Amino acid sequence: MITVQDIHAAKAAISEIIHTTPILQSEQLSRLCNNQIFLKSEHLQKTGSFKIRGATNKVKHAVQEGAQSITAASSGNHGQAVAYIANQLDVPATIVIPTDASQCKVEAIQAYNGKIEMCGTTSAERIPRAKQLAEKQTGVYIPPYDDPYIMAGQGTVGLEILEQVKDADAIVVPVGGGGLISGILTAIKETNPGIKVYGVEPKIANDTYLSLNNNKITAIPATSTIADGLRTSQPGDLTFPVLQKYLDDLVLVSEDEIRFAFSFVMERMKQLIEPSSAVAIAALINNRLPLANKTVVTVVSGGNVDISRIGELIVPTNHQ
Ligand SMILES: *Cc1c(COP(=O)(O)O)cnc(C)c1O
Repeated sequence: MITVQDIHAAKAAISEIIHTTPILQSEQLSRLCNNQIFLKSEHLQKTGSFKIRGATNKVKHAVQEGAQSITAASSGNHGQAVAYIANQLDVPATIVIPTDASQCKVEAIQAYNGKIEMCGTTSAERIPRAKQLAEKQTGVYIPPYDDPYIMAGQGTVGLEILEQVKDADAIVVPVGGGGLISGILTAIKETNPGIKVYGVEPKIANDTYLSLNNNKITAIPATSTIADGLRTSQPGDLTFPVLQKYLDDLVLVSEDEIRFAFSFVMERMKQLIEPSSAVAIAALINNRLPLANKTVVTVVSGGNVDISRIGELIVPTNHQ
């Protein structure tokens, strides 16, 4: 298991490249949630998500170990982050994406000089291809979450929260494969275990919820949740034990609740956040967590939304 020392090392390794993102606040949101809410704003991070933290830590390490090239299998935030950092470090990157990836995602990767290879429509097809390419090119395959360097990089979000919100009572984090929350859990629980850390998943992508209940990694079939960063089918072999050890609770939110939170933040706070980030705010708005009149940090994990899809996500927010 990674330790908080690994996260301090990651912070030193990535600090020249990543932004220390701001903390935003909204009185309207705080009132609606009956808690003082602080938004750790990784949607304002380089490449538009926290994924650049883990990717930078991992790719830097791989290059130090002699990697001649980098591969990844993701059309989303991880693919963009890996392409960006490989370009910064002058090492060629190939990103394996599904044949049905949207044009704007392809363009985002190409804008960072990432080479694109299209392969199948599922991660079960893409991941072996990305690993095979890495082998052929004396390269290193960069996984999206189940890796100690990735987890330690994502954990730097937790160290920043400790510095920026000194009296935090709780932190609420969206959960996909669990890289982000396992890093944050390690940073927080090994520094100040009194701070609660809660995970949130969409009801229709509840693989980690089921895994925790079953006490073993449990996979779900493919899901089409609007929170597209959380569509993983199961938690990771390395991330899951960290959740079992440290997580205070994990709760679920509906697709409609995600839409409402997304729309509220857009309308009242003028921030474009991903549905994947809105899940954590939805849990607070809908009172899923045992928190009242507390200082609560919610991790806004990213802000990459295909703007042609925004219309599908917006619902009225004036019924509160
Ligand atoms: C990847 C991602 C997540 C989930 O992170 P995991 O480390 O897979 O749990 C949440 N939100 C956004 C915006 C993401 O890109």
